[in-house]
Amino acid sequence: MSLILYNTLTRRKEAFAPRDPARVTMYVCGPTVYNYAHIGNARPAVVFDVLFRLLLARYPQVIYARNVTDVDDKINTAAKSQGVPIKTITDKYVEIYRADMGALGVLPPTIEPCATDHIAQMIAMIATLMKNGHAYAAEGHVMFDVPSFAGYGQLSGRNRDDMIAGARVEVAPFKKDPADFVLWKPSTPDLPGWDSPWGRGRPGWHIECSAMIEKHLGETIDIHGGGHDLIFPHHENELAQGTCAHGGKTYAQVWMHNGFLTMDREKMSKSLGNIKTVHELLSEAPGEALRWALLSAHYRQPLDWSDDTVAQAKTTLDRAYRALEQVAHIQPVKGAEYAPVRAALEDDLNTPKAMAEIAFIVGALNNAPTDDSRAQIKAELLAAGKLLGVLQQEPAEWFIAAKKSSGVDAAEVERLIAARINARKARDFKEADRLRDAIAALGVVIEDRADGTKWRMAE
Ligand code: AMP
Ligand code: ZN
Repeated sequence: MSLILYNTLTRRKEAFAPRDPARVTMYVCGPTVYNYAHIGNARPAVVFDVLFRLLLARYPQVIYARNVTDVDDKINTAAKSQGVPIKTITDKYVEIYRADMGALGVLPPTIEPCATDHIAQMIAMIATLMKNGHAYAAEGHVMFDVPSFAGYGQLSGRNRDDMIAGARVEVAPFKKDPADFVLWKPSTPDLPGWDSPWGRGRPGWHIECSAMIEKHLGETIDIHGGGHDLIFPHHENELAQGTCAHGGKTYAQVWMHNGFLTMDREKMSKSLGNIKTVHELLSEAPGEALRWALLSAHYRQPLDWSDDTVAQAKTTLDRAYRALEQVAHIQPVKGAEYAPVRAALEDDLNTPKAMAEIAFIVGALNNAPTDDSRAQIKAELLAAGKLLGVLQQEPAEWFIAAKKSSGVDAAEVERLIAARINARKARDFKEADRLRDAIAALGVVIEDRADGTKWRMAE
């Protein structure tokens, strides 16, 4: 079956046809590292991780680059206010970002290029653009000459007037055209800067991605992704400068953008201050539940985040892991696949449909009549979960993680359970019942099994 992806550039779903099926290339704009990532920032990381997994299942080699923006005015401001060099800030938050994404089950991308390691490539690309008549120097800046590229506006579908009115474009006397954007800007001595043919300065944001793409993936890539807010101006500008630097070659074949994660229907963003960081959410719920919640809406739709979204995700995963726990002793058959989950994902990453299919297999596993059918269905469930990046832990690990994040004092529960066992041994059933009620009052369900008393959080 072909892989169908919605292309922002053509505004329709298309069959994905990589230029070289032996080497598929994907680039996703990564974080600017000056603070904890919020759960909205995690949405593109998780969504494109699902696409990465799907591509890996289809093609022999996938090069997935997700950059780190480690030079930026917001980083400069953070460094200044804390009185430290920018590297102190960026090193710290890039580590936190990697750990947070790891906890959400995001595979490390093939490469994670940092902007500051690619200044020479950026300078070379800017020089090419100047030579080709697409950029000009003015007062220590180098600007991209927007009217020199007839295709400008094709990605965002904006006309010139909309762009200028809505773009928050900086007004500057040295711009030839209000839509022109910065490729290079001068740095004062207190700011990070690099020597360049236009004096000491630092790159504009957009050129970073184009230079890193050229270096690591080539002049034309198969897929370029990011959040919806990046379509304009960031990706429009990347497309313009990338195309012009390469003599008109296609810059990216497919452009994909995830919708916003909102809270109370408002975009989650650092500037609005309505954020929940991944870091704090991880202390409230297992990473896998956050991942499931992030994938519960189709990636192009908005996703309104609430405690309920996470609670529902946790309940669904509890059910799936409980089904797996029941068949822990059964060896899954080798090489199984569950086609409906893959088909759902191959239809423009339809994760809600894939998750409904997973719920269906869980039901089938619970009702499987023989060990042979259990071995088959268990294998299908695990294979389907792998594509989505879920259900890969041991059920016991999941239940421990779920207990830890539930806020219940596990030691206290264990103590009450032990006391109840002793009461029953002493045939003090009244006390045993009292202890059972005390345990239930903590929101905990106990199950007396042949291998001992097990507990879990009530749904
Ligand atoms: P930033 O660190 O702000 O550069 O953003 C990193 C990535 O997160 C970009 O791809 C953004 O488009 C994306 N992003 C930021 N806020 C949200 C949000 N509320 N919902 C979904 N994606 C977002
Ligand atoms: Zn970018």
